[in-house]
Amino acid sequence: MSDVTKINGRPLKPSTLMMGHGYDPVLSEGSLKQPLFLTSTFAFPSAADGKRHFEGITGKRPGGADGLVYSRFNAPNQEILEDRLSIWDGAEDALSFSSGMSAICVLLLTYASQGDVIVHSGPLYAATEGFVAKWLSKFGVSYIDFPAGATREEIDAVLAQGKAKAAEQGGKVCMVYLESPGNPTNALVDVQAVRAAVDAAGLECPIAIDNTFLGPLWQRPLEHGADIVVYSLTKYVGGHSDLVAGSVAGAKKWMDPVRMLRNTMGGICDPNTAWMLCRSLETVELRMQRAGENAEKVCAFLAQHPKVEGLGYLGMIKDARQQDIYDRHCLGAGSTFSLLLKGGEAECFRFLDNLKIAKLAVSLGGTETLASHPASMTHLSVPDERKAALGIGDNLIRISIGIEDADDLIADFEQALEQV
Ligand SMILES: *Cc1c(COP(=O)(O)O)cnc(C)c1O
Repeated sequence: MSDVTKINGRPLKPSTLMMGHGYDPVLSEGSLKQPLFLTSTFAFPSAADGKRHFEGITGKRPGGADGLVYSRFNAPNQEILEDRLSIWDGAEDALSFSSGMSAICVLLLTYASQGDVIVHSGPLYAATEGFVAKWLSKFGVSYIDFPAGATREEIDAVLAQGKAKAAEQGGKVCMVYLESPGNPTNALVDVQAVRAAVDAAGLECPIAIDNTFLGPLWQRPLEHGADIVVYSLTKYVGGHSDLVAGSVAGAKKWMDPVRMLRNTMGGICDPNTAWMLCRSLETVELRMQRAGENAEKVCAFLAQHPKVEGLGYLGMIKDARQQDIYDRHCLGAGSTFSLLLKGGEAECFRFLDNLKIAKLAVSLGGTETLASHPASMTHLSVPDERKAALGIGDNLIRISIGIEDADDLIADFEQALEQV
């Protein structure tokens, strides 16, 4: 049975391809599901094949290995996963990693050299911001950032500053790194404007974007001018809060150097996790749709509640600029949002401690609803002025809606609000 990707010339949709793409049962005793390949190394059919495979791995011959060599480089379960991940974002190539952070760190290390400047949107996931500011700075790499909602003119100005800084340091702007929406406020980045600004500035560096919050369903950044899309697969793609993994995807010319560094450092995800992620990809569309519908109903309830001051939900944007970015980039509002209560930490803690269905935990994108208090948890170490600038107050709760029954969730939030 060959890998069917089209019927009567019409390309099959990702949700169909997730059931079989990249795997041929005939090669594995007819096993309908892919076996788990627990092996560190692969036997070569001949010495000449071994040589050819190594020429691909070491970059002596372009195009990468045409056969498997060693499981730090790649292996069957991970290759199937990577084939399927590419489909969702319309990418030529994808690389899997043992965590979102290992994907992000290897990506940044691939492109940054001494003296270079990384231009990034703010806020970023705290560990990403930390890697750029604390670790890359040790090697003479600096950064400059712009706020998520920045206009074309503001982005132009920051790119010009980045170029000047890089020239001073004897380097270049090596990457524009975005995260949209930002966590936990859901502020969106205008990726189309960033693309236009980077081109106008004559920069040849890639634009990368962390698409963990809305991808792969509700935002397709490669169609809006990004070159590389980054995921913590731990969140919506894994979707069951039972694994940690990450990925990067994009054109082969951007992925090949990242693959070379992953070959050297390791950090590819393990076969069991790759297998679990293939299972998760079969339902990612169903799960994200249901969670999105639930979030819409829950937010409609919360928005009119007298103890609620506001919502940071992409389905109820108040700002015209943000709405414009949303309309041009997003296909849905997703299911992670911030809830602002009237009051402060005490009111939030009472609410959180009284939830009966929603679990009190960080992370997001799982089948179950989670709630947390960023100011005292994920963003505890962020200085107060920066928290204020990012809009992370003591009265902000972050909620990731799962796939439970919406009425049950509303009943839970209603009774917890009564306790506030
Ligand atoms: C969780 C997360 C990460 C880090 O991913 P891990 O899988 O935990 O390493 C990066 N970016 C965003 C937006 C995240 O939510």
